[in-house]
Amino acid sequence: MVKRIEMKNPVVEMDGDEMTRVMWSWVKEKLILPFVDLKAEYYDLHVLNRDRTNDQVTYQAAEAVKRWGVGIKCATITPNAERVKEFNLKKEWPSPNATIRKILDGTVFRAPIVVKNVMPAVRFWKKPIVVARHAFGDIYDGVGIRFQRAGEAEVIYRSDDGKEERVKFPRFNGPGVLQGIYNLDRSIEGFARASFRYALMNKLDLWFATKDTISKVYDARFKEIFNSIYQNEFKSDFEKAGLSYNYYLIDDAVARVVRSEGGFVWACKNYDGDVFSDFVSTAYVGTLALMTSELMSPEGYYLSEAAHGTVQRHYYKYIKGERVSSNPTALIFAWTRGLKRRGELDSLPDLVDFAEKLEKATIKTIEEDKIVTQDIARISDIPGSRVVYTEEFIDAIRKNLDIMLKP
Ligand code: NAP
Ligand code: MG
Repeated sequence: MVKRIEMKNPVVEMDGDEMTRVMWSWVKEKLILPFVDLKAEYYDLHVLNRDRTNDQVTYQAAEAVKRWGVGIKCATITPNAERVKEFNLKKEWPSPNATIRKILDGTVFRAPIVVKNVMPAVRFWKKPIVVARHAFGDIYDGVGIRFQRAGEAEVIYRSDDGKEERVKFPRFNGPGVLQGIYNLDRSIEGFARASFRYALMNKLDLWFATKDTISKVYDARFKEIFNSIYQNEFKSDFEKAGLSYNYYLIDDAVARVVRSEGGFVWACKNYDGDVFSDFVSTAYVGTLALMTSELMSPEGYYLSEAAHGTVQRHYYKYIKGERVSSNPTALIFAWTRGLKRRGELDSLPDLVDFAEKLEKATIKTIEEDKIVTQDIARISDIPGSRVVYTEEFIDAIRKNLDIMLKP
């Protein structure tokens, strides 16, 4: 029996729903608790507990991340009308992720977990591409009007001290639609800093792209803020680390991403990030269970989670007594990334080392032992894989981990 690693400060643990909740407990029991004397402040975000607490538990969990700096989150149900019926809920509670992001004001970084078994659909790609998505403003908080006849419209800005600025759209000669969107300097600055910081921490170049040639006020402001933060706060550290910051037009960037060999962070405005994170993840690894998702806030708050949902379809089989082959890799990486961050903040090299070994043990199981879950087998390019149930997959990882941790 190995001596368990001691922790100083706790991580904030947010439990979730359905198949991911089941896998969460297996991962903890078999891969974390035997090795780490876990200090965790536990919040149960099970949909029924959110309902019981009128969603207060979600707010409390987000506030706890502000207190302790590091959160690890399981996937959770975002209730819709069907779910309200299924669980007899008081209402369609908002998405916990949206609530937590709003409180922490973060940028979400999504990266593929690269394994040799799965070749990227783009044959040039050799190193991961991390998409950093700004999670504030733009069309996600915009307004729109659908108009029925010819007319005109203008945008009026009125400052708190009563000054006004107006801009007119061209005259409308028939029915149509219009939209207004906004962003705030403070949030764009936070997005820029989080992106530069993440790139520096992970020793990757940073790419940023907008359409400032067309959007001469809105996108131009993003470009300006990124540039000034780079010049004033990051340029010397980037140069010391041999890294670069590259600004492109968004259409040019897309072409360059496809031609590149990867190995950079691609900072995307909110909508671009929505679209391109799904594009990159599907083209890279083809399954959301091989993706990490990390949120970093301007204040340094950190939250790791799996990029996928609660894997409901598998859960319904599981509760009927069938065995399932759901992939716990992204959940395992949510734990390793969170523990690694905790270890770095608290100067606990053993905890960092453990997290890195658990990641290696997981990748070794897939790549070398060729023991995989169903979703990987479906897209694998390497013959001879052995498809196993979730628990067997976790046991195989445990075997590799035991060997790696042997003193
Ligand atoms: P999902 O849980 O991501 O699953 C969609 C499909 O993707 C699954 O049916 C499965 O395909 C495959 N899949 C996803 N994760 C997998 C894994 N770990 N291992 C193997 N296969 C995996 O999305 P959903 O079914 O649309 O959503 C279910 C619930 O999750 C919803 O209530 C939604 O609100 C919630 N959700 C939560 C989050 C979050 O907390 N971050 C994100 C998205 C969705 P096959 O069935 O073909 O095997
Ligand atoms: Mg999307």
